[in-house]
Amino acid sequence: RFITFEGPEGVGKTTQVKRISEAFNRLNIPFIAVREPGSTKIGDQIRSLLLDPQFQMMTIKTEMLLFAAARAQLIEEVIRPALDAGKVVLCDRFVDSSIAYQAFGAGAKFDDVLQVNQIAIAGCLPDRTYLLDVSVSKSRERLSKRGQQLDRQEAKEQDFHQRVRDGYLQLAAKQPQRFVKIAADQSREQVFSMIWSDLEAQISH
Ligand code: C5P
Ligand code: MG
Repeated sequence: RFITFEGPEGVGKTTQVKRISEAFNRLNIPFIAVREPGSTKIGDQIRSLLLDPQFQMMTIKTEMLLFAAARAQLIEEVIRPALDAGKVVLCDRFVDSSIAYQAFGAGAKFDDVLQVNQIAIAGCLPDRTYLLDVSVSKSRERLSKRGQQLDRQEAKEQDFHQRVRDGYLQLAAKQPQRFVKIAADQSREQVFSMIWSDLEAQISH
C-alpha cells in the first residue's frame, strides 16, 4: 500500500507521518517512511537546491523538472522496491504537491506538469492520500512560530499559498476515492485518530 500525505506547509504532515510510524513499529507492520523532495542522496541534493533562498532566480520549468527528478529517483531507488517487498510506504508529499505548487501555485502549464510527472512516476500512484487542510492564515501562523528562516517556496506571497490550498481542494474533490480530507486545525491527537481510523481499514486488505 502506497500512502501519501499532502497539504500546505505548517499543517503537520511530518508530525503525523512520525506518529503513524511509531504506531506501525508497535504493531510490527512492515513499512518505510520517506519525504519529498529527498530521502535519497540525489534527492536530498536536489532538495537543497530547490529550497535555498539564494536561488530565487530559478525558473518554474527548472523547478518542476527538479521536483520530478527527485521523485523519479525516490521511486526507483526506494518506493518501488519497498512496495514489491510488501511494505506499506508512507510518503510526506508526492505528485499532488507538484500539481498544487507548480501548476496551481506557480502557474506552470498543467499538461507540462502532468507529462513530466508521468515520466517520473511511471504508473506508481498512491492508493490513499491524506490531505491535511488548513486556512492559509493558520498555516502562516504556524510557520512563523517555528521561527526558522523561510525556504524559497515558503517565502512566496499569500496569494500563491491560497492558490496552492485551492488547488489541493480541487484535486481532492476530483478524486474522492483516493483522497481523504482532514481538517488540520484540530489537535494533533484528533488529526491522528482521524487518519488512523481510515488507515487501519486501508492496510487490512
Ligand atoms: O514538506 P515541506 O513542507 O518541508 O516542503 C518543502 C518545501 O518544498 C515547501 O516549501 C513546499 O512548499 C515546497 N514544495 C514545492 N513543490 C513541491 C513540493 C514541495 O514547492 N512539489
Ligand atoms: Mg517546509
